[in-house]
Amino acid sequence: MSEVLDLDQAAADKKAAFEINKLSKRLHRQVGQAVTDFNMIEEGDKVMVCLSGGKDSYAMLDILINMQQRAPIKFSLVAVNLDQKQPGFPEDVLPNYLRSRGVDFHIETQDTYSIVKRLIPEGKTTCSLCSRLRRGILYRVAGELGATKIALGHHRDDMVTTLFLNMFFGSRMKGMPAKLVSDDGKNVVIRPLAYVKEPDLVRWAEHRQFPIIPCNLCGSQENLQRVQVKAMINDWEKRYPGRIDNIFTAMGNVVPSHLMDKKLFPFETMKATGKAEPDGDIAFDDDESCATPTAKVVSLIRD
Ligand code: SF4
Repeated sequence: MSEVLDLDQAAADKKAAFEINKLSKRLHRQVGQAVTDFNMIEEGDKVMVCLSGGKDSYAMLDILINMQQRAPIKFSLVAVNLDQKQPGFPEDVLPNYLRSRGVDFHIETQDTYSIVKRLIPEGKTTCSLCSRLRRGILYRVAGELGATKIALGHHRDDMVTTLFLNMFFGSRMKGMPAKLVSDDGKNVVIRPLAYVKEPDLVRWAEHRQFPIIPCNLCGSQENLQRVQVKAMINDWEKRYPGRIDNIFTAMGNVVPSHLMDKKLFPFETMKATGKAEPDGDIAFDDDESCATPTAKVVSLIRD
């Protein structure tokens, strides 16, 4: 009996190791692909990796350290954490972890917690001022450290959520870019986890046993609108697997002539070309994907 149990356990361990190996390969491939597609890291770059103590930024640093060892180009990493003096922030956790990884790091201590508490009335959301202060500090630190890129740990699901937040509450079709120039014009910000799914990061964090620091130390609630949109997207994904991927792919596949932004497409000056276009628009025909829905589809939509 115990031999059978041992065999079962060995088979389960083998399967788990196989799955983790697959996950590791996928994460490294996706980060490598995003870095290449957006030319995020170049020869000689000093990448400031912003580390909050959450699963995403730990995973980003972890993967970048591995990539650095195997990449055909030379770049350096410096991990930066901003200690905002939130009550209960465990000061030693990140330095201990970073020392154990042998990576250069800098802990910037700035009591933004007190500033935010002083300026924002009780019960009002503090995140917007807090993020603004944090952003300014991180840009300054990047300059002081001589960093040429600032890496943030946002992932695919953050980018899709942001797109819907901006559409629902800001009437703008605007997501979260994989690479941008900061609003002070001095820094290039990159998001190496752009292609990575959040559930993969959860599993990676469990496997690597990152010493996660809770993100609610400031006592603020996560932005309710973001929570709602995230729940909506996750519900879609459960009911129609692959939907988040499709939306994310669509974000890189924009057809300005079929949207409504006159700044992106010269609708006013467009004229008939007189030439047939095999792939041209079929204004009078129904697109197949938009055909009359079947009873089953109707019931799915109503559910
Ligand atoms: S949750 Fe707290 S620490 Fe995070 S942005 Fe909001 S106020 Fe700042």
